[in-house]
Amino acid sequence: MYQGNIILLGAPGSGKGTLSKELTKRYEYVVICTGDILRNEKRSGSDIGNQIKDIIGRGNLVTDELINKIVQKVLYKNNQRFILDGFPRTIPQAKFLDEVDEVDLVIYLDISDETLTNRILERGKTSGREDDQSVDIINKRIKQFKEETLPLVDFYEKKSILVTIDAEQTVDEVFNDINNIIKLWN
Ligand code: AMP
Repeated sequence: MYQGNIILLGAPGSGKGTLSKELTKRYEYVVICTGDILRNEKRSGSDIGNQIKDIIGRGNLVTDELINKIVQKVLYKNNQRFILDGFPRTIPQAKFLDEVDEVDLVIYLDISDETLTNRILERGKTSGREDDQSVDIINKRIKQFKEETLPLVDFYEKKSILVTIDAEQTVDEVFNDINNIIKLWN
């Protein structure tokens, strides 16, 4: 059984948040969700929060420098194994992570644009997130995922630590696939 850290890689709306929560019910993991960390900063009205609120609201990425610093701080405080949800999102972030911690399993949630848009709009009805409510912003986030984050699939494939899962399936089915990977991966 796999005992190490995990990256859940996938476009916005691919199910990373839901699945990482499910995984913590069965395994001893802490979830490090950079989107939640940034939204909390925004809500708290901190200096960082004020700097980033427009960036997040418009669906743009915050700088690598800022997010790397935040993640490093969280990792420094944490001594449990972790699931990363929403990080890394760019090649520089992935290279930075390589320097600060070890991850030997990356689960890529593969899903169509159409399903993503529908899921995010549905989530937007209750999430209160402005970036979940406009089709333009959702399209921008999907485009940005393809340009900035999708190259990570190749990056991790070359390290032979990437597994792709069909995320069009139901949550239960995807969760079942992930469980099987965790059981077999070493
Ligand atoms: P998420 O909840 O993962 O969709 O993230 C919400 C927003 O937070 C994103 O649209 C970005 O503005 C910002 N964000 C989260 N993670 C990162 C990251 N790793 N790099 C840059 N921006 C991020």
